[in-house]
Amino acid sequence: MFRETITHAGGTTEGTASETHAVTLLVRAARRQYAMEATPAGGALITWTRHVFGPGGNSLVLVDRSIRLDPMTPVGNLTDTVREDLSLVDGDPRARYDLVKGRRVITGTLWQVPPFPTAGLRARRLVVEDRGRVRLTLTARLGLLAHAHRTTTTAPRGWYHPSAYESAGLNRPGRRAGLLRDSTSAAVCSCLELSAVGGDREHARRLALDHRRAVTAEFVADRLAVPVNA
Ligand SMILES: [Zn+2]
Repeated sequence: MFRETITHAGGTTEGTASETHAVTLLVRAARRQYAMEATPAGGALITWTRHVFGPGGNSLVLVDRSIRLDPMTPVGNLTDTVREDLSLVDGDPRARYDLVKGRRVITGTLWQVPPFPTAGLRARRLVVEDRGRVRLTLTARLGLLAHAHRTTTTAPRGWYHPSAYESAGLNRPGRRAGLLRDSTSAAVCSCLELSAVGGDREHARRLALDHRRAVTAEFVADRLAVPVNA
């Protein structure tokens, strides 16, 4: 279950969205190529712009629209152990609940999550039973996605003393008292697949955001646009 916040012409509207409704929203948004980003809590932010008639009704103006999905139960800390257990459940279509000495466990083809962590995964709404099978909730999947793509940007070097090699070009603009300025900033991601350099830190932050949006759109198109049990 998610809290759904819609930003539209009249302001914002809040409501609730079931997992099925949230999947529908994300898949539709991906088809329309709206920007979308998974949040660390296990939700998502969908944003797009729309042309509407401005005051007077004669000219079209661009306005921002968004739908924010916040999980009722945020995923919390996704430790290595939790992520390993979730990976077992996610990778095995035979994952199901079983009882061992009267205590509930999740079992798969060749593995078992013991009672205590099983209780934790259930209480945190990271897994759900669906037609006899235990699967990850959308919240867990979005939270894992955000966790896999934690981006950072490096601080620009700023003014610095040029090396002997660079000193040869000191007559160029940007020189100050023999110093050169480097405002570039690198955008990196914990997935190690992003290596981009922005002209300044704001640009690098934009590159990092573009990456997080790209992986979210890819996840929605590849993993959500088909029925889970297909
Ligand atoms: Zn990444």
